[in-house]
Amino acid sequence: MAKLQLIHMNKSYTNGETVVALKDVSLSFREHEFVSILGPSGCGKTTMLNLIGGLDRYDSGDLIINGVSTKEFKDADWDAYRNQSIGFVFQNYNLIGHQTVLQNVEIAMTLSGVSATERRNRAIKALTDVGLAEKIDKKPNQLSGGQMQRVAIARALVNNPDIILADEPTGALDSTTSIQIMELLKEVSKERLVIMVTHNGELAKEYSSRIVQLLDGKLISDSKPMVDAKAQKVEKKKLSRTSMSFFTAAALSYKNLLTKKGRTIITSIAGSIGIIGVALVLALSTGLSDYMTRVQEDSLSGLPITISEQAQEIEFGPKRHEGNGMVHLTQIDEEGKYTDENIIYNYDKNANVIQHTNVFTQEYFDYVDQIKTVLPDDVRAVSYSQGVQANLLAKWDDSIVKFSTGNTEGTEEEGEESHHGNGLYWQEMADNDELILSLYDLIGEESRLPEKANEVLLVVDEYNRIDTAFFQKLGITSEVSSYKLTDFIGKTMLKVIPNNIFYQQDSDGLFSEVPVSEYETIYNNNEGMELTIVGVLRPKESANAIMSYLSPGFIYTTDLTNYIVEQAAQSDIAIAQKNSDKDVILNVSFTTDAAKKKALLRLGADTTPTAINIYPTDYQGKDAVKQYLDDYNTGRAEEEQMVYSDIAQEVEEAFGSIVSNHSLTLI
Ligand code: ADP
Repeated sequence: MAKLQLIHMNKSYTNGETVVALKDVSLSFREHEFVSILGPSGCGKTTMLNLIGGLDRYDSGDLIINGVSTKEFKDADWDAYRNQSIGFVFQNYNLIGHQTVLQNVEIAMTLSGVSATERRNRAIKALTDVGLAEKIDKKPNQLSGGQMQRVAIARALVNNPDIILADEPTGALDSTTSIQIMELLKEVSKERLVIMVTHNGELAKEYSSRIVQLLDGKLISDSKPMVDAKAQKVEKKKLSRTSMSFFTAAALSYKNLLTKKGRTIITSIAGSIGIIGVALVLALSTGLSDYMTRVQEDSLSGLPITISEQAQEIEFGPKRHEGNGMVHLTQIDEEGKYTDENIIYNYDKNANVIQHTNVFTQEYFDYVDQIKTVLPDDVRAVSYSQGVQANLLAKWDDSIVKFSTGNTEGTEEEGEESHHGNGLYWQEMADNDELILSLYDLIGEESRLPEKANEVLLVVDEYNRIDTAFFQKLGITSEVSSYKLTDFIGKTMLKVIPNNIFYQQDSDGLFSEVPVSEYETIYNNNEGMELTIVGVLRPKESANAIMSYLSPGFIYTTDLTNYIVEQAAQSDIAIAQKNSDKDVILNVSFTTDAAKKKALLRLGADTTPTAINIYPTDYQGKDAVKQYLDDYNTGRAEEEQMVYSDIAQEVEEAFGSIVSNHSLTLI
């Protein structure tokens, strides 16, 4: 029975033009023989070998293996046939350079599902058979050409195939070595079918048992044709498929990764860059929003919720007055915002705005006083701003000037500035060191927070700047554009002058400020309180300029306010003002009660606070505080309601959109 049969086999290649590589070749091979295929270059020898070895597919005809037609073979069948029945030997050996001789042989068995130990034993045996027992741990480049070809033959033999296909196995070898290889193949052919493609007719004639010649794809001679081939019965039978255990596959992959270190590293780096990129974007956007949340929580929560007596405009949405008619001023009018309705309102702005003035009552003060008891965890501090005006004299070198701390002229105008201090450079700080230090850095050596009423701080902006107007107010007229921190820290340059000294009463009972000519005398007398600058505050880098609630200039303690209130309340001018319907300085009648109240407040005769500042501990705390304040308004008439302002919320709204925009950009 023929081992292999080629029946009317045809093969052409189409690469633009069609080349017929094999034309109607019919040929049968015996179980054991050494067949040499000869022919000039391009006659189709390699093509035939590739078709026999299942490396390529014939166009028409058939290849019959052990009596089985391959017409219906699937890829898996071809794989099984190649792996189990064929051993290949090539002209250029096809050894893996970075693996040892032993590994090169073992690798042929990785697809046959053999255990590692058996693989090793069989590889050693195959290498011993080809005379290379000594060289198993060498790398291919340490071997001669003949030795490398022996390794290739050992590798071809190790799976114990029925057929050895050799393509010009001596093509790259000298004649002596070629002879050794031919002898080896001849030996092999005693038990197997060896089909060899060669140019070397002489060697072929000497060593092979049969010579087949091709020319232009056609079989032209066969020295020992197989005659009874046609009698063979062709059956359809499948070969068992190739198997590789999971561990073999894993080990092979691992070994492969290790041996291709360079490529593995580059692939890893390239892969990592992609992964890192994605991770980076995610980390950045998460980090950014975390950062913003932290900034909001840390810094924004430091800003107080303020309830002041100042008039405010409150705008409400289109639906506010519909329904029960009860207006809740402090609750944000969410209804009607971002509507999906198909609507555009034509609205009268004035009709949608309420002018509201908070009127402080004892009831409200009591209500706010309880906030620290009701919400102990949510409130850091409650402070009250006083309308009392400090009389200050400032000394710089030899000049002494009045440092005005309030808008004494148009008393009606006084408002916004008076407790936020913008433009006045004279501001009370929250009675909460922790809060101050969470928003501001103390800069300059010796800089510290005030401990007593007579200690004040200087606030600069993030560039260490204060407006020129501040220096002019201090009586500094020189054109110097910068000073040293130490020109201020530790210096005493302000003095609080009690009302009784600052205001002089004339015979008509009217009061007037001391003339400028007496400033020096009263600065130097013992009464009053000298103020020492004990430190300089600058907004923290992590905080944002818009969150700094202290404006550049002086800031002073609540203790100082208490001192001023105390001495002012008992002053002659305060008592006189209380008992008069006229302004005791300007000698004009008050037009409104509010105007009189302001005058009393300014002179310390009325000690009701002008504003309440509530400092929440954190974000949640702020919500709780607002809820608490909202609750007060429930069910009250519009004019009784108390409206608070929350600077942090405006800032937060601005930031909210920044965060989402940044995240979008990053993603
Ligand atoms: P030999 O091995 O006898 O030198 P080959 O079998 O390699 O000849 O080639 C036979 C013919 O088929 C040649 O004309 C060759 O150019 C052509 N041929 C071989 N392989 C291919 C291929 N993959 N694509 C196109 N043409 C091929």
